[in-house]
Amino acid sequence: MSKIQIFDTTLRDGEQSPGVNLNKLEKLEIARQLERFGIDRMEAGFPASSKGDFEAVKMIADTIKNTSVTGLARSVKSDVDAAWEALKGAEHPALHVFIATSPIHMEYKLQKKPEEVIELAVEMVRYANEKFAQVQWSAEDASRSNLAFLATIIEKVIDAGASVINLPDTVGYATPQEYGYMFKYMMENVPNIDKAILSCHCHDDLGLAVANTIAAVENGAKQIEGTINGIGERAGNAALEEVAVAFNIRADQYPFETNLNLKEIKRTSDLVSKLTGMHIQANKAIVGRNAFAHESGIHQDGVLKHAQTYEIITPEMIGLQSNLLYLGKHSGRHAFSDKVKAMGYELSEERLKEAFDKFKQLTDRKKEITDDDLFTILTEVQTDSLAVDKYELDMFQIEYGSTNIPTATVELKTPDKEIVKKTCTGNGSVEALYEALDKLVSEEVELIDFQLSSVGSGADALAESHVKMLINGQQMNGRGTAQDIVEAAANAYLNALNRYVIQSNVDNKKKIFD
Ligand SMILES: [Zn+2]
Repeated sequence: MSKIQIFDTTLRDGEQSPGVNLNKLEKLEIARQLERFGIDRMEAGFPASSKGDFEAVKMIADTIKNTSVTGLARSVKSDVDAAWEALKGAEHPALHVFIATSPIHMEYKLQKKPEEVIELAVEMVRYANEKFAQVQWSAEDASRSNLAFLATIIEKVIDAGASVINLPDTVGYATPQEYGYMFKYMMENVPNIDKAILSCHCHDDLGLAVANTIAAVENGAKQIEGTINGIGERAGNAALEEVAVAFNIRADQYPFETNLNLKEIKRTSDLVSKLTGMHIQANKAIVGRNAFAHESGIHQDGVLKHAQTYEIITPEMIGLQSNLLYLGKHSGRHAFSDKVKAMGYELSEERLKEAFDKFKQLTDRKKEITDDDLFTILTEVQTDSLAVDKYELDMFQIEYGSTNIPTATVELKTPDKEIVKKTCTGNGSVEALYEALDKLVSEEVELIDFQLSSVGSGADALAESHVKMLINGQQMNGRGTAQDIVEAAANAYLNALNRYVIQSNVDNKKKIFD
């Protein structure tokens, strides 16, 4: 079995998905779960891109101990410096520096001659190596680059100190045969290739990201880059859970081993989906709601007689268990705290208390508290920005029925600690509620998308709402849960708004690096 390293870029490439904006606590929570999942390297962000990203990368670097933390940098010294400032506290800090190598990118985007690109790449790798023990160099748009040119530049950056060479299919254009051949070519034509490992990074524009990834590994790549649920720019990246399960189920064809713990797939996938607001399509391989559902009578009959007639993957493999009930109305703080630990959460005293209060409130209204409910409560509490000035819902009341005009009264505490109140009507209850909120807040808010779903099943399931809103012209996502759907909608609205408020506070702070 040959060992393959997993490089996760959910927090960088994944976070570049249109409409996704994670705050630093959400990023940290995903980072912790990625560590639990067993990935070897995580790309925590692009520190030079914004203050928010810088702070998130720094927080992750200072917290995560068992996984190498990487930051992205363009071939600019100030990017490398910013990355070092963010990452220097990490146990295993690493840098990912890139430059484009395809004729079209060099000519039109960089406006540089190939020799100049080589010179700059070498200079940057040398510069980065003065600070970072591990430097990964990427040839952006590698799959549309000239192979001989690529081999030349790779040899030089390895000489300059790069220990990982990443060859991305940046625009998702390559076929498995072509992409695999590029790796084979480099293995055979770069004289010092034994001093570095090759890495693949595939986009899914033609639906070939996972196939291309596997082709690269079959031709010498020793590192796979990808994201959870395949999120990322445009059509996204290779879905790591799909690659991992394919290696496991078809070990007869793929003699490759990773450090991933497949039983963490479901939870990792759920967490990423919940925090990014990127829903997983029902028929998505491995983690879709229908991935293990057998609908046709012939299939159901077969599975009942012998599971493997139609089921090649078991739900248990990815950690999908039917909801186990552990806690209820009479569970005390001690049992709760044990359960929180067993679920792998590390909550501060303050957050643990908040979570316990939320749990108790829920047991008043809901008889059976499932693992899904707890996962939702704990994730919410863990990613809540405490001790910051933000909007808080004091109370709301809705009058609604088939014969009267929906009317909402909302009382809100503003970031300035002022209590404001308003009553509005609308065509529906959520519209009336949002109308009142719009009038109370000082930001310009426009709703773009609104979604409502339930956590788990049953009539008393928690409601979860996701919204997309334009706030002062900037697109923000929001997420809220509650027992009641209208309250969940109010929470989602305020979550998006507070995200904006907190982010603008960060942006207004003094520059961290000049
Ligand atoms: Zn990418």
